[in-house]
Order: sequence, then structure tokens, then C-alpha cells
Amino acid sequence: MANERVAIITGGAGGIGQAMARRMIVDGHRLALMDIDGDAAARVAEAINKEAGTNGVLAVGGDVAKPADCEAAVAKVSDVFGQVDVIVNNAGFGASRIRPDGEKNLLTIEELTPEVWGQFFSVNIDGPLQMMRAALPGMRERGWGRVINVTTSFFTMLRNMPYGASKAALEAASAAWAKELDGTGITVNVVVPGGPTDTPFIAPEAEMDPTKMLRPGVMGPPVAWLCSRDADAVTGQRFIGGKWDPELPDAEAAAIAGSPAGWPELAAATVIWPDD
Ligand code: NAD
Repeated sequence: MANERVAIITGGAGGIGQAMARRMIVDGHRLALMDIDGDAAARVAEAINKEAGTNGVLAVGGDVAKPADCEAAVAKVSDVFGQVDVIVNNAGFGASRIRPDGEKNLLTIEELTPEVWGQFFSVNIDGPLQMMRAALPGMRERGWGRVINVTTSFFTMLRNMPYGASKAALEAASAAWAKELDGTGITVNVVVPGGPTDTPFIAPEAEMDPTKMLRPGVMGPPVAWLCSRDADAVTGQRFIGGKWDPELPDAEAAAIAGSPAGWPELAAATVIWPDD
């Protein structure tokens, strides 16, 4: 069976989403860039189709925070490409959207109104869950699927609220969902760049030097490998794009850049557990 798949990349018009799409199209996958900014997704899809000499990239407008949009995106992509094999849950936003200098001067507790808190969680964790739920029946039917969740670095999880908490929730859920789906042919993994990455996610007001940031392209190789049959048995892992050496064979690069998702080292701190 050929390795080509149908993937939806949420936030596909953004810096990291585009970079992953540019790498994945090389492997012959058909891609849908789902983005709340449907016009931007259409421009990016057109550009990648032109560069790659293909018409395998589709744009879909939609808000991952709306379950109906998640279902509609999976339905539309299934209509056009026949099925959905891969969900890359990459749509997300950070403190810059609430306050342009928010990545530098973190949002305070006073700023975390129920609306602000809710926005972060509805996009960064509810969205991935509903995208996965919409695609799961088809994946189960075919006995093959990939869910790839973009979280963030450990220090950000513990520092930058509510973004960090929303991504920590996605990280924990990824580990749990990988276990739940074990044996179904559907894997769940996490991919992160490994530090601040030069995309519009970080506004200029954060005053971070873009030349010292990671390039969004570091996310391409691990995501491409996870979509291949070589990664059929890989689940519940997290891969750091910035540590992935594209010069190495994929399995070696994965061994260096990968570790279990979540915080398994905290297991040692558990005093008693009913199954023990
Ligand atoms: P970006 O702002 O360039 O792209 C994000 C894209 O998501 C945008 O195109 C935006 O329109 C889209 N989006 C936002 N809300 C949406 C919604 N509700 N529904 C659908 N689309 C939506 O940012 P990026 O750096 O490419 O971020 C991609 C992912 O990487 C995010 O999940 C982010 O949290 C994560 N991340 C980024 C960094 C970084 O430093 N840039 C570091 C670690 C993790």
C-alpha cells in the first residue's frame, strides 16, 4: 500500500502549519489547510500547489473552537479526497493575541477573565479533541490513523498562563488518548519546535530577536515521518523538531528527538496507586 495519506493541518495558514505542509506535500500526501482565516489558507494552498506542481492542497475555512466547523471540515475533506487519515492539531494562539507584548510581559491573573481563559482552552484543547472526534470513525473503520498534537515547551507550560496550561492539558490528553487508542492502528503523538519559533505567533512587541528563534521548518521532518508506515508502532511520544537532525536516518533522528509524551518522571513521586 502506498504511503500517501490525506491530512488536515489546522492553523495551516500560519508559520508552522505552512512549513509542515511544504514538507508533507513532498511525500505525495493530499492536504487540507484548515484555518479560521480562510482567505489566508486559500492563498497558502495556492502558493504550495504552484511550488509543488500539484493540486493536492485544499483550503478550508473554519474555527476549531466550533465543533460544527470541525465536523464540516472533516466532511468537506472526505468529499474532496475520499477520507481523512491524519489530523495535525496545530491551530493555536498565545498571549500576543490578548496583549501584543504578552509573550514578554506575561498576562496577569487580573487579565484572565473567564472569556480570555475560555478562548485559550476552546482553541488549544477543545479544538484538537473535536477535530480528532470528527475524524475518528473513518480512522477506526480503516484501522489506520494519525493524530499529531502541537503542544509547547515544558518551561512555557509552567510559566505562561493560560497558554501554558492549555498546552499542558493537550499534552496530558495526548498521552491518555494514545493509551486509549492503542491497538487500533491509530496513533497519537506530540510534536513541538523546542523553543520560540519565528512566526506571527510572537508579535514584534515581545522584542525577541527572530534570528535567535527556531525556524518553523524544524517541524516538517518529524511530522512527515509520523505519517509514514515506519511510525506505525510509535504512539504516546513527543518529538522536538529543533532536535531532529534531517541528515540522520529517520529512526536515528527520532530516537534523539523523541521521548514519552507528558511527564512520566512524575510517576516516581506517586506514593500509592490502587493497581500496585
Ligand atoms: P501562527 O500564528 O503563525 O499560526 C497559527 C495559525 O492558527 C494561524 O494561521 C491562525 O489563523 C490559526 N488559528 C488560530 N486560531 C484558530 C482557530 N480557532 N481555528 C482555526 N485556525 C486558527 O503561529 P505558529 O507559530 O505557526 O503556531 C502553530 C502552533 O505551534 C500553535 O499551536 C502554537 O501554540 C505552537 N507553538 C508555537 C511556538 C512559537 O514560538 N511560534 C512555539 C511552540 C508551539
